[in-house]
Amino acid sequence: CGIVGCVGRRDETLSTLVHGLSKLEYRGYDSAGVALVDDDLDVVKRAGELDDLRAALDGRSVAGRVGIGHTRWSTHGPPTDANAHPHRDCSERVAVVHNGIIENYEELRAELTEAGHEFRSDTDSEVVPHLVEDYLAAGEETEAAFRRAVSRLEGSYAIAAVVAGDDRVFAAREDSPLVLGLDDDAYYLASDVPAFREFTDRVVYLEDGEFAVVSADEWRVTDADGQVRDKAVDTVEWSP
Ligand code: GLU
Repeated sequence: CGIVGCVGRRDETLSTLVHGLSKLEYRGYDSAGVALVDDDLDVVKRAGELDDLRAALDGRSVAGRVGIGHTRWSTHGPPTDANAHPHRDCSERVAVVHNGIIENYEELRAELTEAGHEFRSDTDSEVVPHLVEDYLAAGEETEAAFRRAVSRLEGSYAIAAVVAGDDRVFAAREDSPLVLGLDDDAYYLASDVPAFREFTDRVVYLEDGEFAVVSADEWRVTDADGQVRDKAVDTVEWSP
């Protein structure tokens, strides 16, 4: 029910993500998780409260300056560790968080299973990392693979993805909110502004059908055809 993302130039991405998730607790949730990438992908996720996720993270070396996080409000599959987001592809290089409902997931899951993908959850969301994996395997560059995967989806979604060896966060929305936060030494992504309001008041609201690609140096919003959108940077006035 909540998404966060962070691409930082300092080593605080993990704590920033967990902080962001705590600020989205008001939206309600039954599970939580994070994914961080550098050359490898680390995913830690748990059914239950954020404290259960914190306990699972304790003592583990989860590193990376690029990451995404999620609080889940189950729609497809019970609240279990396996059904918690982020979800991964078979090769464990792609991690995806999703809010909303993918209406055509049964059809996509059947197609992907036929193509040899093995699913580890009951969620509608898990089709997304497998689709990205398929397009990467077909030779697509990461951003193109993400865009093609999202173009297959019907329903409502705010989605964020990371890929091992790639220092960007990829995002898309349709009928589910998503906002970028622009700070001097980090960029953020979230379902709602409180997730990063302590760090910055400069925001860019995504609209339905838009995609965002965020790295440490650059953020870019494009439409469904890949055309760059000239987005307004707003200043949020209220304080936390
Ligand atoms: N439909 C997805 C699930 O059941 C996402 C739910 C959400 O928005 O948190 O896992």
